[in-house]
Amino acid sequence: RTVLGIESSCDETAAALVTSERVILAQRIASQDEAHRPYGGVVPEIAARAHAERIAPLIEATLADAGMTLDEVDAIAATAGPGLIGGVMVGLVTAKALAMATGKPLIAVNHLEGHALSPRLADGDLQYPYLLLLVSGGHCQILLVEGVGKFRRLATTIDDALGEAFDKSAKLLGLGYPGGPAMERLALEGDPKAVPLPRPLKGSDEPHFSFAGLKSAVMRAKQSGQYADADIAASFQQAAIDCLIDRARRALDSVGKVNALVVAGGVAANKAIRGALEALAADYELDFVAPPLDLCTDNAAMIAWAGVERFAMGQSDPLDVAARPRWPLDPDAETVRGAGV
Ligand code: ATP
Ligand code: MG
Ligand code: FE
Repeated sequence: RTVLGIESSCDETAAALVTSERVILAQRIASQDEAHRPYGGVVPEIAARAHAERIAPLIEATLADAGMTLDEVDAIAATAGPGLIGGVMVGLVTAKALAMATGKPLIAVNHLEGHALSPRLADGDLQYPYLLLLVSGGHCQILLVEGVGKFRRLATTIDDALGEAFDKSAKLLGLGYPGGPAMERLALEGDPKAVPLPRPLKGSDEPHFSFAGLKSAVMRAKQSGQYADADIAASFQQAAIDCLIDRARRALDSVGKVNALVVAGGVAANKAIRGALEALAADYELDFVAPPLDLCTDNAAMIAWAGVERFAMGQSDPLDVAARPRWPLDPDAETVRGAGV
């Protein structure tokens, strides 16, 4: 079985062909970093227009890379949310048109489920249930993943997502957009103990994350003129890691038996964070699974894979399925202090 996956929820236009045997036959990603760089962040209208220009040729090229035609694809999966609605609609409507023209089933994929299941594309041995840290540009959650579409959210951020904190801190240091990889590089040259920064909610009874105060402290450290940028970056990254580990520890202590500790989402590409989580998993005698770096940041292979998993369960969606700007993985999770899903 081969599924075509389409991703367009943020600022990467992507297409991939993935088989039920976990083979990525082809994948292409057109990043829009250059288009958004002058604005220091993603401009939704620019993103939507860029997706509309690129998506059809990108899908054609992906099929050509694999030497396949649409007729040889078994299903068409596209991100239907959450994300920037203009972009989501471009990808979803493209998928609907292809499904209509070919008669193949359409699978509407939750972008976060794409991230959440990507470790299973990378590692065929990873079984449900697993404890997942979903750390991305828009989300910072700890989830118990019990199966396809079966998520229990144990923690979320009460303010900024971790990727957002990386991006905002990078901007304060003049590192440009996107900030995460630049912060990681600069942190390598700095002393993680040089700048005293807070660890918001570390040791707290509630399970959640908070990163807004950390970002503000980065701003004050920069404005003080007392510290080298590399020291600020390294200290920021260490503070973020300390928060993550503390919250993950709390979740591991409270959750039942799981098969692995797993990390996914764009921030999971950070090697220092991967290393710290791997050590934590070893401490709990758990397997640790992190997808390869290019499956952490936004891509279509993870969307195709979520499609493979849903298709294997006999699921597909009608051609009038809606694009959803908001779409929580765990609809039963309560709103935390008015913060995001
Ligand atoms: P979401 O998935 O929540 O809708 P998104 O799709 O915009 O948000 P992703 O593409 O999953 O987010 O992740 C992008 C985020 O990951 C950005 O905030 C980026 O700075 C961060 N990121 C990418 N690489 C690294 C890295 N090496 N270290 C830290 N952060 C990183
Ligand atoms: Mg991006
Ligand atoms: Fe994402």
